[in-house]
Amino acid sequence: MKAELDAALVRDFPLLYGNRHAPMQASCMCWGFECGDGWEPLIRELSAKIETIIAAMPVEEQPNFRASQVKEKFGTLRFYMSMGNDAIWAAIDEADAKSAVTCEDCGKPGSVRGGGWIKVQCDACHGGSDVLDPADLP
Ligand SMILES: [Zn+2]
Repeated sequence: MKAELDAALVRDFPLLYGNRHAPMQASCMCWGFECGDGWEPLIRELSAKIETIIAAMPVEEQPNFRASQVKEKFGTLRFYMSMGNDAIWAAIDEADAKSAVTCEDCGKPGSVRGGGWIKVQCDACHGGSDVLDPADLP
């Protein structure tokens, strides 16, 4: 993801992304958001939900709940937390499902594509070829 989008997410959700610049031994967030810019809106929406959940917790518990890794894997968004709860997991599941139909490059409606690397793209970003059935994914 572009550096300015990354920086804006970290700025806007300081609790959730408190470990963004932690050492690599401490958090995979040191690698940043390992996905395309097209998913920034859905990551932002998810981040706002989780930030609100964390902010409602007792202050001493808040540091336990941090994003630990955000990346694309097998075509869809994977959003990992150091710790979570039912509300957080539900929000992550929803974002994961949205990522399967959102072009990772531009954010338009997309489908999971094959061809060496599984990725969600719209027709324009992909330039044709196979659309995979999400049920066939690993
Ligand atoms: Zn696209």
